[in-house]
Amino acid sequence: MLSTPDYTTITPTAEIRTSTHGNRAKCLQRLLRLNLPVPKTVALRFDTVRTIAGGRMPDIRALLGVFGDGALLSVRSSSQMADWGGPGTILNIGMNDEKAAHLAKTHGPSAADALYVSFIRAYAVDVLRLDADGFEGPITPRLAKAAFEAEMDEPFPQDPAEQMAEVLRSMARAWEGTTARLLRQAQGAPLDAGLGLLVQEMALGIGQGVSGSGVVQFASPETGEARATGRWLPQAQGRAALSEGEAQFIVTDTRGKSLEDVAPEQVAALKAAGALMRERLREEMQIEFTLMNGQLSILDAVKCPRSGRAEVAITVALAEDGIITSDEAILRIPPFTLNQLLHRQVSPTASRDVLTRGIAAAPGAATGKIVFSASAAQAMASQGEPCILVRRETSPEDIRGMHAAQAVLTERGGMTSHAAVIARGLGLPCVSGATRLQLDGRKKTLTVPGRRVFHEGDIITVDGSTGDVLVGAPAMVEPALGGAFATLMDWADAARDIGIRANADTPEDAAMAQRFGVDGIGLCRTEHMFFDPARLTVMREMIFAENPADRAAALDRLLPMQRADFIELFQMMQGQPVTIRLFDPPLHEFLPGDRDGIRALAEALDLPVSRVAARIESLQEFNPMLGMRGVRLGVTVPEIYEMQARAIFEATIKASTKGAPVVPEIMIPLVSARREVELVKGRVDAIAAEVRSQTGQDFTYRLGVMVETPRAALRAGEIAEHSAFLSFGTNDLTQMTYGLSRDDAGRFMSAYVQQGVFPEDPFTQLDVDGVGELMHLGADRGRRARPDLIISICGEHAGQPSAIAFCRKAGFDYVSCSPFRVPVAKLAAAQLSIQDRQLQADPHRLDEERL
Ligand code: PEP
Ligand code: MG
Repeated sequence: MLSTPDYTTITPTAEIRTSTHGNRAKCLQRLLRLNLPVPKTVALRFDTVRTIAGGRMPDIRALLGVFGDGALLSVRSSSQMADWGGPGTILNIGMNDEKAAHLAKTHGPSAADALYVSFIRAYAVDVLRLDADGFEGPITPRLAKAAFEAEMDEPFPQDPAEQMAEVLRSMARAWEGTTARLLRQAQGAPLDAGLGLLVQEMALGIGQGVSGSGVVQFASPETGEARATGRWLPQAQGRAALSEGEAQFIVTDTRGKSLEDVAPEQVAALKAAGALMRERLREEMQIEFTLMNGQLSILDAVKCPRSGRAEVAITVALAEDGIITSDEAILRIPPFTLNQLLHRQVSPTASRDVLTRGIAAAPGAATGKIVFSASAAQAMASQGEPCILVRRETSPEDIRGMHAAQAVLTERGGMTSHAAVIARGLGLPCVSGATRLQLDGRKKTLTVPGRRVFHEGDIITVDGSTGDVLVGAPAMVEPALGGAFATLMDWADAARDIGIRANADTPEDAAMAQRFGVDGIGLCRTEHMFFDPARLTVMREMIFAENPADRAAALDRLLPMQRADFIELFQMMQGQPVTIRLFDPPLHEFLPGDRDGIRALAEALDLPVSRVAARIESLQEFNPMLGMRGVRLGVTVPEIYEMQARAIFEATIKASTKGAPVVPEIMIPLVSARREVELVKGRVDAIAAEVRSQTGQDFTYRLGVMVETPRAALRAGEIAEHSAFLSFGTNDLTQMTYGLSRDDAGRFMSAYVQQGVFPEDPFTQLDVDGVGELMHLGADRGRRARPDLIISICGEHAGQPSAIAFCRKAGFDYVSCSPFRVPVAKLAAAQLSIQDRQLQADPHRLDEERL
């Protein structure tokens, strides 16, 4: 077996690989191939660094020999992926009394002293991990060496080989430390991820001519727009120096001094280097450079740091300029990055006073005055005041308040609690399950232990992207839906091979869905249409009806309202499929819960309070989510579904007169038995026949079933005989598969995830093992019974890349998610189909060595 050398000088042709030497080593080799002025650099392989951590040193004198006597050197880390981290760079190794004396002659005593002190400090604090106290402040080399000796009981080492060995050992061991390991594992690094080290000749950054160090990039880190930004500090070394107040601009700037003012040629060379790297490394890079007496050295280049918005702009621009393909642009952008573009966000540079944290239930951020009730939210909104609705948990009665609020904060609940689902649908930021929150509804206050008490009207900010609740009003950045984002979505549409629909309950939701370019509506939850105050009263009359005739009268009044809803929806979605789910929730959700509400209802219905209270009580259930809801209500109170079916058909006829005919899809919720479907189908078909004969108009429709109970999945074969489509409602299906209430799971979910009982909250990440197995069974059995069966998912999981991967693999026709999740879903779907295509074209495809 050939022995591998411990180190390799980086040249354009040397054997340097990302997988053995790390991404920085590979990048420097690429810069050399571009003839860029990179100082001499030697790369140590991962296995060499591992043996150094284990106590065996390579031949250090031979290593130093590569650079010649008296060279000052730096050591940088080079992990396989840039975001796996690595110990910080150590500069000026080789600095000793002799070198300092020499530098004093060539660069002046103060520059020599400053370099020497900074090395002694770095060596003591960063390498040997001594207390920083003795090395702080403006000290001389003599004092710094004395402090070193006092701590170490030995003089500061003068031998460059000894210094280098210690630096290498310290960096190799730091990589093996627990914190470093956990941090990189959080970024997806494997357990055995290696670290390479680079020994590089210093370009000093001090001297008589233009000298100093800087960092520059040619795309804005906030927006991605093409412009040079960065910092430059004369007579300085290293990135750290650039955070100092005196740092100057790179290009000429009215706000202050710049490098371009004194060294225009060097800035032109940097611009040329940036353009070359962009074209040949196929990435927008950030360059770390040094000037020594006007001579440019490029020490390092890394992928330019960027916000999500900049990521999209930079990547799309690379593809538009023909540097990468549109497929590659799609693959480069992590889908959730798009959330940063869809909503207002707290500015990455704003300071954050975190009051408490909860579940990041709906992305985006909003600032407003605290309100504790839906009515207060409406009152606040009517005065044009932005507000944040804070509730223990929300119920359907809060929906109007949610519409009026800028964001929602709840003490209880998880990813699929009422507040979370509705907020995502409305595009409102939401933090749910902020369990440390102490709410006092009566005094109208909130606090968390150890913080001041907040009152109604105080200003807070809900950051639904991170789960933070912030005090006050931090600076925000606005959404960015045009330009690069729109182009990326067009590319994703062309690449994806699974349908993406939206869950949309209202015309506003549908408009948002249209804006994101969906393939239809996959779930319209009709019950939300009944919470409008005018309708709520009629709804309540229907619930209180004593006999079928009274109930029919109330439903007759609801019919035109419901028909108008559907006409509007169908006209907006002209030519596209719209899936309407028949009424799902238990009836008591439409009745008041407190004494004042009951009294008001009694007045409105002209009934004694006792009768109203008794009726409400009679509708109460121990377990309403497992009680009389969904199709169970449809079977026992059939008139509601009949009214809805009539409204859908009449609206279909009306909407089809003006444009492309609509094919409504009627979906039955919470089915568990074939007979339920037979009963509802019989009635819906009868209403269709009636409407056809009454109007003399024909139309087509599809009837399908929402698979939300394990039994429906298991019996999908017989259920499919009466269904044109099956849509998996994975919110309820998860709840019922686990026997775990979706509204209560938030209370202990974090303990469960922390202790590894569940790998993730199954209401957030589709449980492909358990719930997924039921979905497989259901889809297979359904398709076997009816090969043309349309299969989809419409639970909240549908917007998750991992669930989309599952559904695509299982041959589902489409996924349907909240409108604001559509872009993420599209990008994830496009990535999956491109990856498959690439794999089919080249089954042995290996990941190209990327920067
Ligand atoms: C579901 O259960 O997955 C679903 C989409 O219905 P809902 O969330 O309205 O219960
Ligand atoms: Mg459901």
